[in-house]
Amino acid sequence: MIEKVLIANRGEIALRVHRACKEMGISTVAVHSTADENAMHVRLADESVCIGPPSATDSYLNIPAIISACEITGADAVHPGYGFLSENARFAEILAAHDITFIGPTADHINLMGDKIAAKTTVKDLGIPVVPGSDGGVTTDEEAMRVSKEIGFPVLVKAAAGGGGRGMKVAPTEEDLLEALHTARSEAKAAFGDDAMYIEKYLGEPRHIEVQVIADSHGNVAHLGERDCSLQRRHQKVLEEAPSPALNEAARAKIGEIVRNAIGNLGYLGVGTIEFLYENGEFYFIEMNTRLQVEHPVTEAITGIDLVREQIRIAAGLEMSFTQEDVEFSGHAIECRINAEHPKTFTPSPGTIRGFHQPGGLGVRVDSGVYAGYRIPPYYDSLIGKLIVHGRNRNECLMRLRRTLNEFVIEGVDTTIPLFQELVNEPDIMNGDYHIHWLEEFLDRS
Ligand code: ADP
Repeated sequence: MIEKVLIANRGEIALRVHRACKEMGISTVAVHSTADENAMHVRLADESVCIGPPSATDSYLNIPAIISACEITGADAVHPGYGFLSENARFAEILAAHDITFIGPTADHINLMGDKIAAKTTVKDLGIPVVPGSDGGVTTDEEAMRVSKEIGFPVLVKAAAGGGGRGMKVAPTEEDLLEALHTARSEAKAAFGDDAMYIEKYLGEPRHIEVQVIADSHGNVAHLGERDCSLQRRHQKVLEEAPSPALNEAARAKIGEIVRNAIGNLGYLGVGTIEFLYENGEFYFIEMNTRLQVEHPVTEAITGIDLVREQIRIAAGLEMSFTQEDVEFSGHAIECRINAEHPKTFTPSPGTIRGFHQPGGLGVRVDSGVYAGYRIPPYYDSLIGKLIVHGRNRNECLMRLRRTLNEFVIEGVDTTIPLFQELVNEPDIMNGDYHIHWLEEFLDRS
């Protein structure tokens, strides 16, 4: 069994992993940059090691420093959280070479799914429906034009190495294609050092629906239902809910089984998410994430399963603690990502938190690493907490969410709480009637 886990991350997710470890009787090691000395994950962990200066490249992405921290503390496993090194196959390999367990899938699967062109081809062969588009990558302008005309405009030009909504451009018409291709290509080259591109049909008003999967090394594979992450700004998720208001039980079971079979045949290990766009009753695969996701708590809320605990069990070679037959979905959950940003302009708002009161009560979970007196450093992303609310049905969940948003106090910095307070009273949100462009259209109107 794993005895000591080094948590190669910061903020709320570092705390989330720490909590799972403690419940399992596992010791924890926090690593941190000099900017995060006073962070909650550092305070709570059994041990902590400073791994570098504020810049993430020199600290949270600094592989030699993290390996050294493992050796100094005797950690026998590393949990990467999300972001940073969580989808870095090389990191997984280096850990293996040092006899340290990577709490995540195999390096081969990380590599495969990290290349979105290879991922799409692979899952298509495994029976998962994909967005119509180029079969593989496009190399020349002529090829891009031919493929786009075949599938019909508008099209979306995407980078094989893309992530976080970068390296992606819409071409509404034929005239726009080459400019979109060239811009996306140079953006991808700069951001990822890889300019391989592919083309997809641009779907008009789809929902973003993703399926949570989990598999162990004993042949157990399960899906844990879906999350609806259609409320997005700049292709980034803002609010997530489970189950999706757009699916009925039959549709859920059908896509769940397709995904479960595919994951089983892939020989996948650990937790993962298969992301789809959903339009007119059809699912279209867009990518697979080979890690724990920010929005995993909504799945935990409706299934009662601790995904981090399962990740650790699987990495230790144990069986998952449940099978597909044991999975029961109960009620409805919604997560709001609370960012230290202006609620209208989304300008980051680092600084000192003067006052902090988090809501509580039945069905309320707050995952956050901040506290009164904490100084939010300007170097990292602006997520400062997640509010997750669970109710017996969607309506109860919404009523509870309204109550908790009104109770939440964060003073001293701007936060996105006022945006959520508006959203929970919007008829479309109350009816579950929204798609991936709804939020940007709403922000343009208001
Ligand atoms: P990333 O890895 O950068 O997050 P994804 O492929 O997951 O990229 O897509 C992110 C978001 O971009 C999706 O949730 C959706 O809003 C939008 N998107 C992606 N592909 C398409 C498409 N073919 N048509 C319309 N929107 C898309």
